Amino acid sequence: MDRISLDELLKQADIDVAALPPAPTSPTDQQMRARITARPAYRCAVCQEGGSTARVLNTDQGARWLDLCLRHGLAVHEPSPRMPTTMEGILADLREALAEATAATGQTPDVRLWTDENGWQDMPMDEHHRYHVTLILDGRRARHGWWGVEAVAREKFTLWVGECSGKAGSRVILTDEHTGAVLTTWPQQP
Ligand SMILES: [Zn+2]
Repeated sequence: MDRISLDELLKQADIDVAALPPAPTSPTDQQMRARITARPAYRCAVCQEGGSTARVLNTDQGARWLDLCLRHGLAVHEPSPRMPTTMEGILADLREALAEATAATGQTPDVRLWTDENGWQDMPMDEHHRYHVTLILDGRRARHGWWGVEAVAREKFTLWVGECSGKAGSRVILTDEHTGAVLTTWPQQP
């Protein structure tokens, strides 16, 4: 389905926003997650299929839930200006976010990937992309790469640590993407 604006979609589907279910004005992440993962799923307001996305509309009558299936949810999804647009860039961003989430929580998020081209698929987990080293400068990923051999990735890790030691806000993370384990980080986590 082509991308259209939310207003257009609402108009096309003739949705009476006032009749949508009332929602909290500023839902927490937890409330959003609960809405999206509820079983049985809330129906897509447009096609009545099982909804798997949710957003809150602030209408004149108050906040309302708009549940949409994946297809309709993606159709009105606005990419943010700094979002990568190539598949490779998106995948790299995802891996980065995963590595950061893993480093922050000590747990690997369970992630599956959906693309317009291939539908659902798992993150690529081939031998060449096993060990992932990420260099973060000033809170942004400055550089990263994958290696198939742990010893080589560790050498790279040490090299990058040497390069950025003394620079404020810098960080290096080595993860094993097969197991999701963070093998080592610099500076070391307490
Ligand atoms: Zn739908």
